Amino acid sequence: MIAEVIINNNARALNRIFDYKVPKELETKIKIGSRVFVPFGNGKKLDDGFVINLKDKSEFECKEIAGIEKDSLSEFNVNLAKLMARKYFCNISECIKLMLPPGTTSKELSNREKAKVGNFVFLNKDKDVVEADIEAGLIKSDKHKTVLRYFIDNNIEEGIYISDLEVFTGVSKAVFKTIAKNGYIAIKENEMERNPFLHKAYSRDKKKKLNEEQIVCFECIKSQIDEGRHETNLIYGITGSGKTEIYLQLIEEVLNKGKTAIVLVPEISLTPQMVDRFLSRFGEEIAVLHSKLSSGERFDEWNKIKDGKAKIVIGARSAIFAPVSNLGIIIIDEEHDASYKSENTPRYNAKDLAYYIAKQNNVPLVLGSATPDITSFYKAKNGDIKLFTLTKRATNAKLPEVKIVDLRYELSHGNKSMISLELQEAMKKNLKNKKQTILFLNRRGYSTFIMCRECGYVAKCKNCDIPLTYHRYGNTLKCHYCGYEQSAISICPNCGSNKVKYFGTGTQKLEDEVKELFPGITTIRMDIDTVGKKNSYEEILNSFRDEKIDVLIGTQMVVKGHHFPDVTLVGVIAADGNLYQDDYKAVERGFQTLVQVSGRSGRTEHGDVIIQTYNPDHYAIIDSQKQDYDLFYNQEINLRKMLNYPPFCDIIVIRFLGKNLSDVKKVANSVYSKLEKIVSDKELLYNPVPSPIERIQNKYRWRIIIKAKLTNSLIDKINFAANVLDYKNKDVSIIVDSNPNNMV
Ligand code: ADP
Ligand code: ZN
Ligand code: ZN
Repeated sequence: MIAEVIINNNARALNRIFDYKVPKELETKIKIGSRVFVPFGNGKKLDDGFVINLKDKSEFECKEIAGIEKDSLSEFNVNLAKLMARKYFCNISECIKLMLPPGTTSKELSNREKAKVGNFVFLNKDKDVVEADIEAGLIKSDKHKTVLRYFIDNNIEEGIYISDLEVFTGVSKAVFKTIAKNGYIAIKENEMERNPFLHKAYSRDKKKKLNEEQIVCFECIKSQIDEGRHETNLIYGITGSGKTEIYLQLIEEVLNKGKTAIVLVPEISLTPQMVDRFLSRFGEEIAVLHSKLSSGERFDEWNKIKDGKAKIVIGARSAIFAPVSNLGIIIIDEEHDASYKSENTPRYNAKDLAYYIAKQNNVPLVLGSATPDITSFYKAKNGDIKLFTLTKRATNAKLPEVKIVDLRYELSHGNKSMISLELQEAMKKNLKNKKQTILFLNRRGYSTFIMCRECGYVAKCKNCDIPLTYHRYGNTLKCHYCGYEQSAISICPNCGSNKVKYFGTGTQKLEDEVKELFPGITTIRMDIDTVGKKNSYEEILNSFRDEKIDVLIGTQMVVKGHHFPDVTLVGVIAADGNLYQDDYKAVERGFQTLVQVSGRSGRTEHGDVIIQTYNPDHYAIIDSQKQDYDLFYNQEINLRKMLNYPPFCDIIVIRFLGKNLSDVKKVANSVYSKLEKIVSDKELLYNPVPSPIERIQNKYRWRIIIKAKLTNSLIDKINFAANVLDYKNKDVSIIVDSNPNNMV
């Protein structure tokens, strides 16, 4: 018997199948999906890989499989990985990785084996004491400090697997023993399961009696569940119209049949309130998967799902790979959200995969949004997706009243503040009524660019082609692309003049301005600079709500899913930023953001929204004032059709990245000339050009765009044109992405 094996390695040259002989004693054990150890290349050490097919003979001289691991993939997952690798232009092994429990690369696995799962490490002294000892210089060894810092920074109270600690700190186990001897940590045998809900208080919540619109939707999807039939459904309903209530009741139906559910939400760490609602309804039968969990926690959640202890998985996009058995439904909340598309290899779209998985399993897929993805709504209008519309807020709360403020008028009337007079008035009134306000500005930092008025010099990142942003806290200039940081300047490094001016605005400056306008009020800021630690989102949101802080100032992070009963005013400081990017999705995203952030106002009583803009006539602004998605959709879809953008075709971006500009150009040009000969008339191929930001992290970036349906034949053409060259030009990498979130 011969096994076709994929080596677990990301090198593109290894993205092929290797034949291995199956030893007699393994013939009964081996199956498609088995994880195996095989001799590879000249080295003595064994590599690990996955069996993706079994056959009788091979045309090659083959080596023998050396061993078999106990964990394996399902045949379903092997097929999914093959499909993904093709569709998303990457290695099968890269896709398989997403389907494995975390912390099980072969190195981590063997560490875990050696450590005997169950060996836990705890901090043995109070966190503050340890921190004080570090500060006081009582702990000399850097390795000791690294380990102890790890406990403190990650707030680990319930212990961590010894092998995890080794992987995360890069410090070897022998060292742990010394630290334990010094009394700072303790190593114990422990079977304890880390439980992310351990310290969470939640109340029990009963199901609601559905209203008429909800019933129509619920009954229809319930019949799909009962009949074991796949359909894709779109619930289009304004915020607060009761979409989540429908999800909860559908899941109850699924659980009653002994089946399981996957619920995808955007960046779950941003929406703890969503998890709380599931906890209140279903108790701890749920597992949560998101990027803020430690690998140990993720490992536990993964096992809870695999062992059937958790019947509902809630997670960000990669939760689509959760090892559920007996799947009954897949739900994608806020289905228009950009985070469902991965911007790292594999560049998959979780929505596409959800569709495939739901279809293969004969279960319904439910998409929900107040502002559906244009492509989803187009499919719904064409009857490819079942459409359900919820028009009323379930609690009868009214939508907020939205006003537009023309910033050109403000400026010409001498108001140089970021906050228009109208917004100032509204804030004053809101403060007087002891209500809360949210101000949204999608730019972090203090000033967005720094220029010399004498010679025109602009402070730019030394690794990227973009201006640096001034951050007042720490008095630094930061690059928002690569993280480069330098201290702020007051003298021009180019001409020596002291006329260096700081232009533009960010959330830090806005916060200062608000405090100046309204002395004595309380404010809290939420952006990447204030959100760092694991629970910080939740902490910031909770203190805003519970401590009745007057004003929350934030970036995109404040837009999503939060429910604050006392917020009756939302101010959008600059609505224009998003609308004019070199990107076909920019306007759609701008509109969605405006509607969503407006939805934070007036959840329980009358609410107001003020949108400040330099473009009051732009259709995305007008439509978001009316909160009229249908109107926006009709305008946008006509434009897309005229310009031939998705959903009327796919946008395929072939990126070329490299340290040497002429190499990058050379490779881009040769791929282009290969493609030029083989594309059809319908496949529109554009010339290679520099990306809008030509250099990021010292790498030059060029791109070729193709507008066409991404068919199998086009995939083959692109692979043919790109692969050949990739082997010769190791210094230039080629990345292919279809319908990316952004085009930079
Ligand atoms: P969405 O997910 O569309 O934003 P939710 O499901 O969160 O809407 O509903 C908004 C609020 O209305 C929640 O507090 C929810 O409990 C409540 N709600 C939903 N459906 C009903 C109903 N049929 N009867 C009473 N309250 C409801
Ligand atoms: Zn100068
Ligand atoms: Zn940079």
